[in-house]
Amino acid sequence: MNETVDTARPYRNARFVHGAARGVRLPADSGREVAFAGRSNSGKSSSINTITGRRALARTSRTPGRTQQINFFDLDDDRRLVDLPGYGYAKVSASLRRDWQPLIENYLNGRRSLVGLVLTVDCRREPGELDAMLIEWCRHTELPLHVLLTKADKLSRNAAAQALRRWREFLAADDLVSVQLFSALSRHGVEDARAKLAEWLDFEQKKAPV
Ligand code: GDP
Repeated sequence: MNETVDTARPYRNARFVHGAARGVRLPADSGREVAFAGRSNSGKSSSINTITGRRALARTSRTPGRTQQINFFDLDDDRRLVDLPGYGYAKVSASLRRDWQPLIENYLNGRRSLVGLVLTVDCRREPGELDAMLIEWCRHTELPLHVLLTKADKLSRNAAAQALRRWREFLAADDLVSVQLFSALSRHGVEDARAKLAEWLDFEQKKAPV
């Protein structure tokens, strides 16, 4: 009998459990969690949806009032995905710095259950200021980082491969920092992204009969 790995299985029961705005307490810091970060419009919600196979998750985080908070999704009793608020375009406004940075810094600095950060960047763009800040922070604290070069379907094969090479160089990719092409539209790279999350969250990839 053919056997295949059901890589979407760990996410089947994912549910929104908690939104933390500034000054609001975070959920219990136990087990393992993976956070997603990225500038607005970088494809973060689409990536979360595609990886989890759960379209309703990002809809939850798009509910008005929930976009500027940290959204927590339980996968099971010990594991969570965390959707960090998207950050703005080229210019980092004073109000963004005032609101976004303390919220994110407080989360990143104090979170013991955080085992990895997924950063979404549009594969056609250069890293922005806050992208670079997060990358630098991960290096500094030795938090594993996985960069998704999103919307890969927008580039030709050659251009996509070039973008991947450029980013590998820029990140000085190694055991701690990795990067891949990803497309929510064509589903390119979905299995690689799930494999990275499975590794971080310590999921056993169980075989399921076809
Ligand atoms: P977020 O603001 O970072 O959460 O970004 P979204 O996931 O909402 O995506 C922003 C825009 O990019 C939307 O119009 C999406 O439809 C589009 N988008 C996201 N992922 C892809 C992709 O893989 N391919 C293409 N062509 N468009 C995408």
